Amino acid sequence: MLKTIDKKSLKFKMWTYFVIFAAFIMLLLWLLQIVFMNSYYETMKTNEIKKIGNSLVTEYGKEGFEDLLYTTSLNEGIAIQILDENGGLIYPLNLIDIIMQPRLDYRLFGEFLINLAKSQSDFVIYTREDPRLQNPTLIYGAILENKEGSNYFLYINSALQPIDSTVNVLKNQLIIVTVISLGLALVLSYAIATRLTKPIEKITKSAEVLAGGNYNINFEKGDYTEIDNLADTLNYATKELSKTEKLRRDLIANVSHDLRTPLTLIKSYGEMIRDISGNNEEKRNYHVKTIIDEADRLTRLVNDLLDLSKAQSGIDAIEFKKFDIKETTERVLERFNYYRDNEGYIFVLNSITDGYVHGEEEKIEQVIYNLISNAVNYSEDEKEITINIIDEGDQVHFEVVDKGVGIENEDLANIWDRYYKVDKIHKRSSVGTGIGLSIVKSILIGHNAEYGVDSKVGLGSKFYFKLSK
Ligand code: ADP
Repeated sequence: MLKTIDKKSLKFKMWTYFVIFAAFIMLLLWLLQIVFMNSYYETMKTNEIKKIGNSLVTEYGKEGFEDLLYTTSLNEGIAIQILDENGGLIYPLNLIDIIMQPRLDYRLFGEFLINLAKSQSDFVIYTREDPRLQNPTLIYGAILENKEGSNYFLYINSALQPIDSTVNVLKNQLIIVTVISLGLALVLSYAIATRLTKPIEKITKSAEVLAGGNYNINFEKGDYTEIDNLADTLNYATKELSKTEKLRRDLIANVSHDLRTPLTLIKSYGEMIRDISGNNEEKRNYHVKTIIDEADRLTRLVNDLLDLSKAQSGIDAIEFKKFDIKETTERVLERFNYYRDNEGYIFVLNSITDGYVHGEEEKIEQVIYNLISNAVNYSEDEKEITINIIDEGDQVHFEVVDKGVGIENEDLANIWDRYYKVDKIHKRSSVGTGIGLSIVKSILIGHNAEYGVDSKVGLGSKFYFKLSK
């Protein structure tokens, strides 16, 4: 089946440009070689004779002038004559001429004198058609100043050679050259265009595969830098896309799992109250408490997701203000009074007196809350949590130190990722949503703050960040 030609394609364009270029060069050659050949030849010849004539005029009177006339006339294939004021031949003269005293045809001489008189410069050059001759002749004339009073004339006569036969030879050659070069242009440009577009076509195919959702595709490099750069960029984009895609899948899987678990519990405890414990107050209260706990967990999850998307979307630009981070921490700690009073947690706050920092208090409060809440969740028997606020010159260093389970080295880099939960069963692991630290990260990045974690498994963790004063 014949493919229709895509006139917008690089291949077609390169092909046409190449052919147009070749055709243009050929046209130029035709114009120069064939069409303008005659006038070109005449101009060339005129200039040449003019040059010879003028140089002879300057040489006149010097030693060896006659020899010069002789050699020039033979070398250039032109007739050179010197005439006196009556058209009498002065040069060349042989013995018989001295007796015969030949003269230039009076009509020729008359015409010559008129032309010379009309000329604006010291010399004249003109063509002359003679019915007895096949070709026109080119005549050059100039006055040779004679010291003895009367003037001599330099009279050069050169036949304009017919160039028709030369033009014909050239024409034939040009036809061959034109055919060959147009043919070559067609073939070569097609070959080059194919070579240039092949890697682009390959990349397009790979991109189609990518668009189909296959992230394992590799964009092949080509023979030139631009394609290499494009392939590199696309490979990088693919890698990033596949990461995002994986995150998205994990997120959906985790969120739906985390939503389903409490919902299942709420439903089954509701059914239990309806069917079993409705009249037994103690049991019913226990079941209702579970339902409330699970509803809280759902609320927490939804809130965390909302907070995260807000923090990450950058809609909430940070509003920098001065606030006392010590006061903020004390306020946060109050929310953990339940743990202090009922579960034996000890909270220690070591702080410099002046805890003023620059930032958005509400957001930093959330960071502090998330960090302390993690310390609570991931402590086991050692329930001491220390918060240090340290003055570091133009910055304030804030850290939450726990003596809890700690984090494996291999997990350290990932805990800041959304929905990353270390795959272990902790006492309170069911509390976590895996979002807390990614909210912390987003907020701290928004504050341009340095942050990090030191942790040893079994010994505890230290989460820190620094804010400018
Ligand atoms: P989660 O809601 O699961 O706590 P986070 O984003 O707050 O989610 O934390 C991510 C993971 O980092 C946690 O699942 C936990 O494994 C680990 N982690 C965070 N804080 C601590 C800590 N203080 N001690 C030990 N592990 C921690």
